[in-house]
Amino acid sequence: PPVIVPRAEHGISRKNIDENTLKVLYRLSRQGYKAYLVGGGVRDLLLGRTPKDFDVGTDATPNQVKKLFRNCFLVGRRFRLAHVRFGAHEVIEVATFRRQAQADDLPEDPADHFFFSENVFGTPQEDAFRRDFTINALFYDIQTFSIIDYVGGLADLAARRLRVIGDPLVRFTEDPVRMLRALEFSARLGFSLDDSVRQGIYQRAPLIAEAAPARIREELMELFRHRVAGQVLRNAQGVGLLPHLLAGYEAEEVTFILLDRIDLRTAAGTPIEEHFALAALFLDRFLRACLPEGEATVTDAVRIAGLILTPHCNYFHISHGTRHQARELLIGFFRLARGLGKRGERRFLQHPMTPQSLEFFALWHTDDPNGTALAEDWRLALHRDGELLQRKSSESPRP
Ligand code: ATP
Ligand code: MG
Repeated sequence: PPVIVPRAEHGISRKNIDENTLKVLYRLSRQGYKAYLVGGGVRDLLLGRTPKDFDVGTDATPNQVKKLFRNCFLVGRRFRLAHVRFGAHEVIEVATFRRQAQADDLPEDPADHFFFSENVFGTPQEDAFRRDFTINALFYDIQTFSIIDYVGGLADLAARRLRVIGDPLVRFTEDPVRMLRALEFSARLGFSLDDSVRQGIYQRAPLIAEAAPARIREELMELFRHRVAGQVLRNAQGVGLLPHLLAGYEAEEVTFILLDRIDLRTAAGTPIEEHFALAALFLDRFLRACLPEGEATVTDAVRIAGLILTPHCNYFHISHGTRHQARELLIGFFRLARGLGKRGERRFLQHPMTPQSLEFFALWHTDDPNGTALAEDWRLALHRDGELLQRKSSESPRP
């Protein structure tokens, strides 16, 4: 039986739940359906954090949900999820309780298993058990305002510990992306990894190479957006996950330090862009590859940047625009490192990516006085060139 914590004994207040989410919960509940707040929203509220979004779980089927809301759209191919829209921007996701499929529910082709296993309706208890971590499987019941805990999530929240629901070896085999998510949540929340989770990742790390590239790419960007890329990828290296995550990727501490600085930059308000993240992941390798060429020319650097980025970008289906920008950042870095007064400098100063390359360059050199001084010289040169341009355009005769 679940642990049920009544309203008087927990800190979740309806004041902290988004108004439209409450509307959805109440309407479902008034129609006689179970209506729970589920997943990350409950976890974050209990931790006193502001949830990114709220998800609703119910025993109403997607079609029943659709009948209750005017602005409701069913999405998803096999498993239908209801999206209830409010205004232009807000979407509340309403999911019918599901369970992990049994062996005889599954289609023949194992390639369909992951997808399919997400898609069989079940009880609230089954819905809790199909989730990844205990702290992600708590429910808040709008009818009683109580918290329902089937999996020991409250105890783990209190102990600030990340634990997998069930046997980590089994759950990581079912879906290897959970290994990366484990590292991500432990970093985001400052939770310790339960020993069984660490052991499980150790043993199942190679499986992550089989996960869909699109999912890995998305989870990687989540790390950057949540400003834990440095910490998580450093830990991923520590538990042997990193080389399987990014085919054969190896990194030295300098790369993780650069990622930490990028995470700080994101925390300070600069949104992370994928090309910036990419360039950071491969900068150290790029610089090393440029070295043995002796006095590498810009042409060499262009070739080397392409060689290094292309396999990764092909594997993850990264658009040509994004690869191009990542390559420009690396090449810009290379030109900045050569110092001022080189051929083609005027055009380089006016190149649209140069300010960002300079930012990238300065980040890498944060603790290096020579590099910092060089970055400062470039900043001045950019500034002067900008003024010159402005003066020219104001002097030019108006038509
Ligand atoms: P946040 O949105 O803040 O990153 P979240 O907990 O809401 O955190 P989501 O990725 O939005 O995470 O997923 C919502 C919920 O779905 C999770 O809380 C978890 O219960 C469940 N879930 C997500 N991914 C998996 C997975 N790979 N295996 C099992 N359950 C999962
Ligand atoms: Mg979420």
